[in-house]
Amino acid sequence: MPQAKKLSSKPATAPSKKGGDVDEFLHLIAARNPSEPEFLQAVHEVAQDVLPFIADKPEYRELKVLERMTEPDRILSFRVAWQDDDGHVHINRGYRVQGNNAIGPYKGGLRFHPSVNQSILKFLAFEQTFKNSLTSLPMGGGKGGSDFDPKGRSDSEVMRFCQAFMTELVNHIGPDCDVPAGDIGVGAREIGYLFGQHKRLTRQFQGILTGKGPSFGGSLMRPEATGFGVVYMMDNMLRHAGDSLDGKTCVVSGSGNVATFCVAKLNEFGAKVVTLSDSSGFIHDPEGIDAEKLAWVMDLKNNRRGRIDAYAKEFKCDFQADAKPWTVPCDLAFPCATQNELNEIDAAALVKNGCHAISEGANMPTTPGAVQVLQEGGISLAPAKAANAGGVAVSGLEMSQNSQRYAWTSEEVDTKLKSIMAGIHEQCVTYGEPDQSNVNYLKGANIAGFVKVAEAMIAQGVH
Ligand code: NDP
Repeated sequence: MPQAKKLSSKPATAPSKKGGDVDEFLHLIAARNPSEPEFLQAVHEVAQDVLPFIADKPEYRELKVLERMTEPDRILSFRVAWQDDDGHVHINRGYRVQGNNAIGPYKGGLRFHPSVNQSILKFLAFEQTFKNSLTSLPMGGGKGGSDFDPKGRSDSEVMRFCQAFMTELVNHIGPDCDVPAGDIGVGAREIGYLFGQHKRLTRQFQGILTGKGPSFGGSLMRPEATGFGVVYMMDNMLRHAGDSLDGKTCVVSGSGNVATFCVAKLNEFGAKVVTLSDSSGFIHDPEGIDAEKLAWVMDLKNNRRGRIDAYAKEFKCDFQADAKPWTVPCDLAFPCATQNELNEIDAAALVKNGCHAISEGANMPTTPGAVQVLQEGGISLAPAKAANAGGVAVSGLEMSQNSQRYAWTSEEVDTKLKSIMAGIHEQCVTYGEPDQSNVNYLKGANIAGFVKVAEAMIAQGVH
């Protein structure tokens, strides 16, 4: 790989004396949010860049802008009772975390997964606030979901659960208030059922969810947007360093919405993707997962709802159970499954095997220890709040189309998506490249995302 300019996420300045401020701040946040490790991790990552940045900006400090951002506007929690196909009653917990609406209505996905809890949703809502700010569209941050597990449930069970969930959520959302979307376990099927129930309860056909089917107000390109955006981000990073995606060997984790469209776009750019995974393990196909094999995976995951080891049987390649793909040698890596899926040991393997850059498809997939190993190893890391913002950006475009009662073509949406991702890259460079050679994308994304929300909060007074 020719490297005209070094891609690096190494911090340009040592945190040294500012470490005291960060520690004190985190101590207070930890005391207010006991037993919420994911939330504290997300706040830590932002605070270590934002606190030094505002050290000489008293208005931000005196008005306690970052402190206010770490306390969600409100957290809604509710019972979701539903009946399975055999008539048995089940009870799950539903949530909506309305994080911050300084720059627009709350916006962020719904996750249905057994691991869902308040800490995970608070971390996701917090991250979402910065991410939505980076898109340059008027959207605040929120996140929601339930500990319901759709795996192994029939369509009618999923429908009854979605109807029960929306029967409560209906009281808290609206096109100018809060507009949820999909996330892990919430795809086109679930969004359809949720939308239908909202319409039935309110007798209003409103843009209260994004990720809808194109026949009822969904934006073209929304399913593709997150995965495509992750690749556009990497394309921008490589071009900034005088390089390109063509011919690169890529490792991708996950095999859901984000992962599969990430693979599709990497193939278009001439890269070769050699892995996919799910929670049972990963497949390694050294020949590359071409368009035909990818279509097979999408059918497996979206229609047959099967496991990824079926790919290894179908295409005669290696499957490693209960393992992650980070030991496979690659030029570029794309974690697209879930939070904290890439730890220090995985990061060391990526460094050792010559990986140069990472674009995060999943939210907070890299542990703090792994971030440090990657930075020390000179791997450039585009954090999720920048790299996977394409999904929510096209959700924002879906809201615009719904308001206008209009639909743009795929080409129009894709052009806007590319331009939004280029704008995000530019903001990261502005705030993350103090010496014009090493871009610290983490720092750039954290500060750029913060500034716009902070200005709006200051303008709107203390509340
Ligand atoms: P999907 O449900 O479509 O796919 C998730 C994938 O990740 C599946 O392959 C799943 O495997 C795997 N996975 C989930 N949990 C684990 C786990 N604990 N260990 C290993 N693998 C796991 O979700 P999405 O593709 O939509 O979301 C993936 C990530 O991208 C999430 O972090 C999400 O927050 C983020 N994201 C998604 C956006 C979107 O538009 N969809 C937008 C921005 C971010 P299995 O089926 O076995 O569980």
